[in-house]
Amino acid sequence: MTAPGPACVRCGRSRAAETDPLATLAWVTSKENGAQRWLCPDGARDHVRAIEGKLPDEYW
Ligand SMILES: [Zn+2]
Repeated sequence: MTAPGPACVRCGRSRAAETDPLATLAWVTSKENGAQRWLCPDGARDHVRAIEGKLPDEYW
């Protein structure tokens, strides 16, 4: 399993495809079970909303 670069775990968007440096900075990463996961700004926003809404983990 090799990827050309970080991609959003929510929508599959490639971080390397971001043209706006600020958008690239807005990406968030987290480590889960030793695996690095990336979220694009949109995905991160949805994720925060999901945490606030206390949605179950299988939502992922
Ligand atoms: Zn995304």
